[in-house]
Amino acid sequence: MRKAVFIDRDGTLIKDVPYNANPALISLENYAAEMLQEFKRKNFLLIIISNQSGVARGYFSEADVNKMHDVIQQKLSAFNVQLDAFYYCPHLVEGTIKEYAIDCNCRKPKPGLIFKAAKDFDINLNNSWMIGDILNDVEAGNAAGCKTILITNGNETEWILNAQRMPDYEAKDLKHATQIVLKHGLEKV
Ligand SMILES: [Mg+2]
Ligand SMILES: [Zn+2]
Repeated sequence: MRKAVFIDRDGTLIKDVPYNANPALISLENYAAEMLQEFKRKNFLLIIISNQSGVARGYFSEADVNKMHDVIQQKLSAFNVQLDAFYYCPHLVEGTIKEYAIDCNCRKPKPGLIFKAAKDFDINLNNSWMIGDILNDVEAGNAAGCKTILITNGNETEWILNAQRMPDYEAKDLKHATQIVLKHGLEKV
């Protein structure tokens, strides 16, 4: 079985631009590429886990989401690192596009996307990590049995905390998160 680092996209891997579907506005977060390089060296799969309710809201299409992912890979290729997969949830119960307006099992804080990736890539979730900038990311990671890191960059504003939403670690930025994974994440390989 493999191990993975699951990473939230908006506000974690790339700078948060709400409901952005314009590839020209993509910029990697500080240290994002270097973080991925470090994890790759330690044989982690690198998998994005992202809510993209803009699809259900009618703001952009799944094709637009995939275009964004292509551009992220292009930006990372300059650093000789690539993500292994992008998993995203296009749904939202109260969305306006009927086919996407469902109560799915893949919108974070639910762990459906992580479980799907684990099945597709034969991942041992107990040896894997979820890194995100809000507590919904943490809850999804915890529910999947991963170790979790909350990046405390100010993007979480509601702080609805309970036992299911407590991160294993808090990191002030991606460099700090990288240090935590390399320090605590390599015992079992
Ligand atoms: Mg985020
Ligand atoms: Zn979904």
